[in-house]
Order: sequence, then structure tokens, then C-alpha cells
Amino acid sequence: MTPRDVLDLMAKNNVEMVDFRIVDVPGRQHHVTIPAVEVTEDMLENGVAFDGSSIQGFRSIENSDMVMKPILDTAFVDPFYAVPTLGLMCQVYEPNGTRYDRDPRYIAEKAESYLQKLGIATHANFGPELEFFLFDDVRFDASSQGAFYSIDSEEAMWNTGRAEGPNLAYKVKNKAGYFPVPPTDRQQDIRTEIVLELMKAGLRVERHHHEVATAGQAEINFRFSTLTKTADNTMLYKYIVRQVAYKHGKVATFMPKPIYGDNGSGMHVHQSLFNGDDPLFYQEGGYGNISDLAKHYIAGILTHAPAVLAFSNPSTNSYKRLVPGYEAPVNLVFSKGNRSAAIRLPIASVSPKAVRIEFRTPDATSNPYLAFSAMLMAGLDGIRRKLDPTELGFGPIDKNIYELSKEEKQQIQSVPSSFEESLAALENDHEFLLEGGVFSKDFIYNWINLKRATEIEPLNLRPHPYEFQLYLDL
Ligand code: GLU
Ligand code: MG
Ligand code: MG
Repeated sequence: MTPRDVLDLMAKNNVEMVDFRIVDVPGRQHHVTIPAVEVTEDMLENGVAFDGSSIQGFRSIENSDMVMKPILDTAFVDPFYAVPTLGLMCQVYEPNGTRYDRDPRYIAEKAESYLQKLGIATHANFGPELEFFLFDDVRFDASSQGAFYSIDSEEAMWNTGRAEGPNLAYKVKNKAGYFPVPPTDRQQDIRTEIVLELMKAGLRVERHHHEVATAGQAEINFRFSTLTKTADNTMLYKYIVRQVAYKHGKVATFMPKPIYGDNGSGMHVHQSLFNGDDPLFYQEGGYGNISDLAKHYIAGILTHAPAVLAFSNPSTNSYKRLVPGYEAPVNLVFSKGNRSAAIRLPIASVSPKAVRIEFRTPDATSNPYLAFSAMLMAGLDGIRRKLDPTELGFGPIDKNIYELSKEEKQQIQSVPSSFEESLAALENDHEFLLEGGVFSKDFIYNWINLKRATEIEPLNLRPHPYEFQLYLDL
């Protein structure tokens, strides 16, 4: 798209406002809005100024002027405002015209150029599967949703997790949400509405269904694309899911483990490398019909997994999901079709082009630009060093790993058990991310410090509601 095309699109849709958006370091979108009559070709080319000091993870106050420049191909007509509004994702620039190196999208773009520079592939495809919960009330209060106090009451874990009256008709039981028809499934219409909005915004939606957990857990899948494009799509997807839910008086949350004792929400990420049309992960005949290149890529991800998780599972809540018994992966192995492995090779992929790996660990508290880039960099390191997953003890394992004997389990490495551990792993293992200048040391240390100071430490210092249950009378 050219600036002229965007102006034409605006005119065609009677657009009155233009929303310029950026993504901060943790992965939240921010926006500034300009009346359409003020938007010129020049502005679409050169961007608009904003204050970088108020954006989490960006600039300090002394040095705050920054510019956001729209990526014209991301233009979409936002259906959630009172007047027709055009949304535009932007790149972040310094006032002197250079790219800002803490802009997460810049890292994703650099990861893709690095892949091309290595000459291994023309592009990587990424396809995330996001799961989320739709809770009942816009005045969302975790304690009323069963997260803390009502954990012993099975009744409280039905539907939205609240304690309810005695009429339990059509209530989904614990871990039985996959996937009875209505009236048990009460969220068909809201999911359909989300899907229709996603399609209008330009995403190709493949399917939607109720997920396993009791309380209105959903999954809606959109089609894979290249890395940065998919990260853009993921931001758009989360925005639309939240907005449709909000319109219906609900809160959509991508928190990995909002309800104790039930399934959490993941963001499994399907990945493959292509040379033009040539699928590089496919090789007929071997285990899962995958190529040696795919095996090296798998070994790279599993070798660096503890550090990668600092980006793909970047919240204290993430590690409450990564426990046995809830279809979330715990073990660093790969396997055909086995949902208890960190990397699954979907056996349903019959055609060579569909052959891919599914990394099941990530969740949607991640910033998709950073998470996808970290996975790609880990995989590429495996390829550069020709790592062999079997030699490194990463399988393949086709048994249910949750049910292995103690001795067998001892051979298998696990994911980190806390966010603190994965940040420590990143501190010790990040050379693979620095290759080709994709991530900078500044970015990595800024990330580690930000997450420790704003999430881990404040959480650790707070008395937890459950501690009252344990200790109040002691
Ligand atoms: N909700 C599960 C998770 O936490 C995944 C279920 C599935 O395989 O779709 O990853
Ligand atoms: Mg699922
Ligand atoms: Mg999956």
C-alpha cells in the first residue's frame, strides 16, 4: 500500500479518525488518534511524534521524543469505535530518523533478515494457537472468579468459577469443556462474533471451539504467515477478542493459569522453514517425515528452551500452567502427536508443505514479536551447530511422559519451574540471540531488569490470599 492507497481506503470507508499504534516491550498496544482531515501523505510516510518516556520499557524522561511511522499494509477499519476509524500498526523511530532498537517489532524484522542472510531459507512460517478465557463480568475480580478463595469448592469452578446457586443444569464439569454442543457450550455466539470481526479485519480464521477447561475457555485459530506478519496478526487478534468480549460485558484473558485445578491457556506455536515454495522441514521416510534441518531446529529450541521461555512464557503466572496433568508441556522432548511433549510433530500434517513443528510451551502473555524471534534464533543456532536432538537426550518419546517411571523421567529435562529461573537462564544463555545483531545486550538486560523489578519482586513481597488460608490460624 502507498500513502495514496491509505487515503483512498479512508475516503471509501468515511474514516473520521486514524489510530496510530505501537507495541511496548511487555507486549501491550498503545495508540494516538488523529482526525482524518489532518492526516496527509507526508504524515503516513514520516509518522507522528509521541512521548517515549511513558511507554513501559522504552525511554527515560530526559530523552523522550520519539516517532511512530505507520506500516501501511497493516491498515484496517476498526469496528469498535463510535466513528469510522482506521487502525495502523507503526514502527518506532528516534527523532534523528534511525530505528529505535527497543521496538519489539524491529527485533522481529531483524530476525527475519538474519534468516535470509544465513542463506538457509527465504522465510519462516509461524502459526500460533491462542487459548483464552471469557469471564463474566467487566468488573473483573480474581477472587470472585474462583482463582483464590473458592479453590476447594467444585461448584465454584463451574462456569465462570463463581460460587453459584443450586441449579447446575448444563454446567460444564472440570476439564470437560472439549467440546459439547449448546446449550452446554454457552459461548458459541460470542466466539462466532469474534471470528466474523477477525475476518473483517483481514485475518483468515481456520476454526473455533470451546476448550477443555470448565469455565468458558475458548480457542480460535487463524492462519499462519511469516514471522513479523504473524506477530502483527497476533496483536490484532488479541485486540479484537478483548473488544468483542468487552462489548458483551465479559473479560477475555490470555493469562496462562487463571483457575487453579483446571486447564490453563497456551499459545502453541507451529513453525517451519521454506525456501520459496520448498518446505525445508519435510523429508519423506524418517521419524515424523521431518528433515535433518528440522531436527537441528528442534534441538536448538530445546537446548535454549530455559532462556527462550523468558520471552515465550514471560509472567509469574506462566509457570503455574507448566505443571503435569493439564495438557501443558513440562518436558523438554519432541514427539509425534504427543501432547505431553514440549515439541509435537502434528501427525495430521499429511502434505509436505504442512510438515512443521509445534512448540507447545509458549503462552499469550508473551510479546509475540520477541517470543517468535527468540524461538527462531534458538532454532537457527541448532541448525548452525548441527545439533542432534536425540544425542542431546531430547527424544523422540512417544509414550505419555506424565506416566513414565521415575528412572525414565530422570533422563528427561524439564522446563524451568518459575519465571525467576527462566530469567536467570536468559542471563546465562543469550549469545544465540545476539547473532546478527537481532537482539542487543541492552534489550536483554532491560527485559530482565524490567521483569524482575515490576513483576517478580512486587509479587514476592505481597502476602498472597492463599497464605491466609494456610497460616491465619497457625
Ligand atoms: N490448554 C492446553 C495448554 O495449556 C492445551 C490444550 C490443547 O492441546 O489444545 O497448553
Ligand atoms: Mg487448544
Ligand atoms: Mg495445539
